[in-house]
Amino acid sequence: MQKILNYIDGSLIAPTSNQYLDNYNPAEGKIYSLIPDSDATDVSKAVDAAKAAFLEWSTMPVEKRSAILLKIADLIDRDFEKLALAESIDNGKPVSQAKSLDIPRAAANIRFYATGAMHAASEAHITGVEAVNYTLRTPIGVAGCISPWNLPLYLFTWKIAPALAAGCTVVAKPSEITPMTAFLLTQLCEEAGLPKGVLNVVHGLGPKVGQAIIEHPDIIAISFTGGTVTGKKIAATAAPMLKKLSLELGGKNPNIIFADCDFELTLSTTISSSFSNQGEICLCGSRIFVERSLFDQFTEEFVKRTKALAIGDPLEPSTRIGALVSEGHMKKVLSYIKLAKQEGGKILTGGKQVAVSGRCAGGYFVEPTVIVGLNHDCRTNQEEIFGPVVTIQPFDTEEEVLGYANSTTYGLSATIWTENLKRAHRISAGVKSGIIWVNCWLFRDLRTPFGGMKQSGIGREGGWDALKFFTETKNVCIKLS
Ligand code: NAD
Repeated sequence: MQKILNYIDGSLIAPTSNQYLDNYNPAEGKIYSLIPDSDATDVSKAVDAAKAAFLEWSTMPVEKRSAILLKIADLIDRDFEKLALAESIDNGKPVSQAKSLDIPRAAANIRFYATGAMHAASEAHITGVEAVNYTLRTPIGVAGCISPWNLPLYLFTWKIAPALAAGCTVVAKPSEITPMTAFLLTQLCEEAGLPKGVLNVVHGLGPKVGQAIIEHPDIIAISFTGGTVTGKKIAATAAPMLKKLSLELGGKNPNIIFADCDFELTLSTTISSSFSNQGEICLCGSRIFVERSLFDQFTEEFVKRTKALAIGDPLEPSTRIGALVSEGHMKKVLSYIKLAKQEGGKILTGGKQVAVSGRCAGGYFVEPTVIVGLNHDCRTNQEEIFGPVVTIQPFDTEEEVLGYANSTTYGLSATIWTENLKRAHRISAGVKSGIIWVNCWLFRDLRTPFGGMKQSGIGREGGWDALKFFTETKNVCIKLS
């Protein structure tokens, strides 16, 4: 069986313990590879390598650093098919989605920061004729990057690319549930000539490897994407150590639909924003609020289109809904559907595990599920489910729907559908979310700041914010007279 290896100091190596964890193919429910069960010793080795590599990498001319990173992006393009297949097998997502979203975006993340670093500038302040102040911006040191399982290579590169481009060396940990494409990436890093020790990838469990990364005194900055509960644990460890911290956490995103929307566009995009990647995208809209005069028509048509979504083998090009990422996650999603019923919700379609025939008979498939009849304040509508489950609720006024939208502890993203420009601005200003999409969803310009409000995170990533995050500044004041 294939063994994934750690990537430390430029070599692919076994964990010190020589112990491995099972890696499942969720579409089949079968173990298909082994993951290093690494620990603090491996993290310590990785940090030593990253420290040793820091001087050369951080002082390398930015054009050269950029060229190496661009080469990695080119190699991702070259191995596009192989990576998409690996991502689909590891995660359960339709291979069509890995091809259209995950893998292209991984290459785009690296290109964006590799080229962005060449345009980075720092400020100078002229204090009359008396002095010049300039800001000296330098890479912060060894960065710790930890990513989740839902968009494995996309989010892994989203963390490491700005750190590497800014001149930091990195100790990174992908999710133990989907480690394969980060492993394949380390092989591409070698091929691209990334100097040894610049990127180190330690595989293993969160409380063991992740915690050791957070606790290590020589890791100065932490960039984390994952659940809110984990984010809070990380903050509790890192804050007293005064580490720089960026946390991209969970969401419970509202999708607000007014009666004057472009009905067809709203409907087709809402199918995507509800069920893409089996609803396992932090930016999916799981609470749909529809203006009462459109509620019946929208709900009827939405249910019809949900029923038509092809569920099954993620490797079939026509599949729209693949497997959930693990048995544990499937059980969690099904338990929320049960809760929704207990809370008085009516299931209009879905609600059950799906038995797929053939190769995928043991896989973790759940029907896309649409629920009505729940209030905004019940647990189903307050807690993150992170699966193919949405609720639809009617509203009468802007004030009322803003109250619903803002009623959760989360504030990651929101989607607004209306042809009324003034209303679009009013609602955008009123919703407490870090990203608002008006008449679209998941349209991203990587220059924009990205991140959540409230319990959805702290800090902003994307654009200059991420490059700046991985640097530290000092002001140099030169007296002229
Ligand atoms: P998770 O928090 O369980 O795990 C994320 C990562 O943290 C994994 O690599 C895990 O091994 C590691 N980890 C776990 N415990 C740790 C600890 N004590 N110290 C350090 N690291 C630890 O999240 P998940 O289940 O992998 O991902 C799903 C969650 O991620 C959802 O809540 C989703 O909303 C969120 N997410 C957020 C964004 C965003 O941009 N805001 C993007 C994608 C996913």
